[in-house]
Amino acid sequence: MRPTVLCFSGLDPSGGAGLQADIEAIGQSGAHAAIACTALTIQNSQQVFGFEATSKELLLAQANAVVNDLPIRCIKSGMLGTTENIAALAEFLTAHSDYLYVLDPVLVANSGGSLGNQATLVKAFIQLIPLATLLTPNTVELRALTGEEDLQLATQKLFDMGAQAVLVKGGHEDTPDYIQNSLYIAGELINETRCPRLEGEYHGSGCSLASFIAGRLAMGDQLKTAVQHAETWLFGVLKIADIPVPNGQRIPKRF
Ligand code: PLP
Repeated sequence: MRPTVLCFSGLDPSGGAGLQADIEAIGQSGAHAAIACTALTIQNSQQVFGFEATSKELLLAQANAVVNDLPIRCIKSGMLGTTENIAALAEFLTAHSDYLYVLDPVLVANSGGSLGNQATLVKAFIQLIPLATLLTPNTVELRALTGEEDLQLATQKLFDMGAQAVLVKGGHEDTPDYIQNSLYIAGELINETRCPRLEGEYHGSGCSLASFIAGRLAMGDQLKTAVQHAETWLFGVLKIADIPVPNGQRIPKRF
């Protein structure tokens, strides 16, 4: 029986990021994706024009509808949009503490557009941090969440805030030839991986990586193995991204 990952994520009409990225990545990991939709965004691969968030009641009703219906092993969250939705997810996770949980702390789109009020989202994320099996911040999100510029100190601060494991994604760092990701578990550096930096920008790469990890965790991988599988898979699907977007970000070819 395929285990289910229940994703709390938003709709991106371009199909590059958000819940479509989650469905495709989790499908490729071998697991099944279910979705509780947090927001409808208006965006393309170049720009975010706006969004309308789901109410807390509607979000919880969606999640609760599938709880006793599907074999959920893992929760994955991406764009949550509002502090109310973050509180709703914290409430849901507290009621289901047996689920694994991958927290992708989405604050802005890779195109730079707002996916919520950053200052209030950062404060609200504090309640989710101790509940997560793994956090997957990029370095911009890591600095925003902790208010700390130095990456080592910022990571340490996340552990002080109750994090169990953190994958720091280095795509936004000034390393022209490569991207380095660092996996920390219980405050210890467990693994560092480097892959060549591909040309261009990719829409939904963070969502895809976090979702594939969630899928592999649901399938029974240990954390380090799940992350390694996901990094290898992501590099492959970015390399073959084949939708030409002259001024925008490329769409990963996830299947
Ligand atoms: N979730 C939604 C709904 C989005 O629209 C975006 C970005 O546009 C993201 C998440 C984060 O995307 P990325 O994986 O590029 O960080």
